[in-house]
Amino acid sequence: MSAHQVLWLRNDLRLHDHEGFHLAQARNLPVTVVFILPEHWITTDAWGMNRLGNAKATFLRACLVDLQRSLADAGLTLHILSGEPVTLLSELLGESGSLITAAAQAPEEAGWITQLSAHWSVTTYTSQTLFNAHQVQPLLNAWPATFSRFRRWLQKHTDAEVAQDTSAAELSLTDHPVTLSAPVTWPDQPGARIQLPLNGGERVARQHLQDYLWQTRAVGHYHQTRNQLMGLSCSSLFSAHMAWGAISVREIWRQLTSWEQLHPDSRAVRALKDELLWREFFHWSLVVNGARVFQLNGLKDQTPPTRFDAELWQAWCRAETGVPAIDAGLNELQRTGFVSNRLRQNMASYLIHELKLDWRLGARWFEQHLIDADPASNYGNWAYIAGVGHNPRPEHRFSLNQQLQHYDPDLQHLRHWLPTLEDLNTDAILRHQSGEHLLTGYPSPVVTVPQSDAT
Ligand code: FAD
Repeated sequence: MSAHQVLWLRNDLRLHDHEGFHLAQARNLPVTVVFILPEHWITTDAWGMNRLGNAKATFLRACLVDLQRSLADAGLTLHILSGEPVTLLSELLGESGSLITAAAQAPEEAGWITQLSAHWSVTTYTSQTLFNAHQVQPLLNAWPATFSRFRRWLQKHTDAEVAQDTSAAELSLTDHPVTLSAPVTWPDQPGARIQLPLNGGERVARQHLQDYLWQTRAVGHYHQTRNQLMGLSCSSLFSAHMAWGAISVREIWRQLTSWEQLHPDSRAVRALKDELLWREFFHWSLVVNGARVFQLNGLKDQTPPTRFDAELWQAWCRAETGVPAIDAGLNELQRTGFVSNRLRQNMASYLIHELKLDWRLGARWFEQHLIDADPASNYGNWAYIAGVGHNPRPEHRFSLNQQLQHYDPDLQHLRHWLPTLEDLNTDAILRHQSGEHLLTGYPSPVVTVPQSDAT
């Protein structure tokens, strides 16, 4: 068989700012472009979970369809397969293939790439982060314990700049035809309700970036609205697009920098860039800390107190915990694949500190449903709230009553996702969840939240 290359896409589902296509083009060999849906993502585990909830499957599929269209315009096929990545890639690579793929972040990906590297030439590139490994090299042997140390390091090392776009002006590659066929069987996606600008695909993602910055200019109020629970412009909604790589985080950063040049005092853009640095921090932490990130005691030596209670877990999965704000968030997440950052924090705090369940169950549940699920940000945030991650304080327990009163004072979010509670006021909700006066026709709290739960 003649020399050829395989470009294996995972969470870099775009053409712009893509080093992989650039590398493939430079080599001038016929290429097979492939995406593989790992079989275990759609297999239900012992806890009744998989890794591809309905909304997430809908979003991913839209990303793939969009990319397939763009590649077809350039005369290339995107092969979408389902199965075990190493087995499928081994077949595609045959005797004379070489592999190009994004550098691993999670241990699972690292394992696949190590196995393939034993037999084939594998070239990797940076796709998910602002910086490459060379730029953050001095930190990789001793990763900072806190985000603020990471940010201070970046401020001192101004050479750690975000690289320029690496896209080739025009994609000019030859398709390497393959006979292998293991087509994806997509899970049914009943009830998934994804809203623009949270549709999947590079086109939507880039249009959304343009609109958010230059058309609606909603970015200008980011620092004031980012904690709101509802609304399609209170935060950037970039996360899902970045998680699948439909847009490059570098492209977002470069455009935010252009905005900053026009509005040098923009607190909004400073705040948004800070959040992108949190993302960066968790991504590199996963590369450095590997499997530890997924352990119960995370990055700490002490194991947090936890228990398993099937009844409590089932109440969470059914969105019937009896704490309305949490149930509303659980409903929203299952239907849309998205919840605001504020509500994610409250939900995580509830599972960890009130239900006292293993934080990793919550993280896996989020991983199944979130359209923006990425192991670094997801496990990083859960571990933080459980007190076993990069947190300077030992415990992050939120007062659920105060959070409700502050962030959903008119119960707009709660009523939207729990229409049966439409006629109730905050007082009735707080009395119900404290067990003081139960509502009829609504689940009793599986664990009560005292009216004085302030921390
Ligand atoms: P914006 O507020 O507009 O922020 C801009 C970008 O900054 C986001 O798109 C995201 O990339 C990054 N960012 C913002 N907040 C955080 C944060 N706390 N940690 C890391 N990066 C952040 N984010 C994910 O992308 N994937 C996840 O799987 C994920 N799981 C989470 C689980 C929990 C328990 C919590 C508390 C947070 C989680 N986050 C996760 C972080 C955050 O909630 C989302 O990134 C954010 O809500 C997405 O909305 P946005 O794009 O409008 O964010």
